[in-house]
Amino acid sequence: GPADPVLASHRLRAGYGAAPVLDDLALSVRPGETVALLGANGAGKSTAMRALSGLLRPVQGSIVLADRAIAGLPAHAIARLGLALVPEGRQVFPELTVVENIRLGARSRRGRIDPAEVEALLDRFPRLRERAQSRAGLLSGGEQQMLAIARGLMARPRILLLDEPSLGLAPAMINTLYAVVADLRDQGITILIVDQMAALALTVADRGYVLEQGRVVTEGSAAELQADKGLEAAYLGAA
Ligand code: ATP
Repeated sequence: GPADPVLASHRLRAGYGAAPVLDDLALSVRPGETVALLGANGAGKSTAMRALSGLLRPVQGSIVLADRAIAGLPAHAIARLGLALVPEGRQVFPELTVVENIRLGARSRRGRIDPAEVEALLDRFPRLRERAQSRAGLLSGGEQQMLAIARGLMARPRILLLDEPSLGLAPAMINTLYAVVADLRDQGITILIVDQMAALALTVADRGYVLEQGRVVTEGSAAELQADKGLEAAYLGAA
C-alpha cells in the first residue's frame, strides 16, 4: 500500500570474505522520507549501500523495493525496478559531455529520452547548464557530484541512494550540494543518504540509523539523534 516502505532490509548480511561486514541489518525508508545512515569509519555504511543496490550480493536476509523482493538480483535489474545509486567517488564518464552523462541516466528505465526532462534537470543544476557541452572530466569535484545526482534523477527513481556526497569537496561546495539535497527532499523525492559528516546529513534527514560493526545500534528522528549527547561525542562532533 501507499504507506509501505519504498525500501526495507531485514536480517541483511553481506561482506567480502569469511567475516560479514553487515550483520542482521534492518532498515526502512518510507515514501518521501530522507533517511541518513550514520556511523564511524568502517561501520559498514558503504557496504550497506552496495548490498541494497545489488553491487554486492547479500549472503542472507531480505531486501524489499516497492513490494518486490530484490535480494540477489543483479544491480541493473534493481536499477530498473527504481533504485538509483549515486556511488561514493562520483564516477561520471569523463570523456562524455555533461548532457551525455545525464542522458545515460535514462538507460536503466529503457525509456525514450524526453528533451524537456534533460532541460528540467539543467534548470535544477545551473552550474551544469553552463557546462552542458563540456567533457565531464573537466568539471570540479562538486560539479561532478551534481552531475552524478542529475544522472541518477534522470532514471526517475523510486529512491535515490547518495553515498558520501560531500567527500573531498570544499566547504562552500558542500553547502551548495546540501541545498540541492534539501530541495530534492522538499519535492518529495525519497532519499537514503550516507555521509561521513553525520551532523550535516542530519540537517536534511527526517530520520537516521547509526551503524556500528554492521548493525543498527541506534535509530531515531533527526532531532532525537541531534540531541543525543553520546552520539555527538562518538560521531557528530568529530566531523
Ligand atoms: P568509510 O566511510 O570508511 O567507507 P563505511 O562505514 O562506509 O566506512 P565500509 O566501506 O562499508 O564502511 O567498510 C566496512 C568494512 O568492510 C571495513 O572493515 C572495510 O575495510 C571492509 N571493506 C570495505 N570494502 C571492502 C572490499 N572491497 N573488500 C574487503 N573488505 C572491504
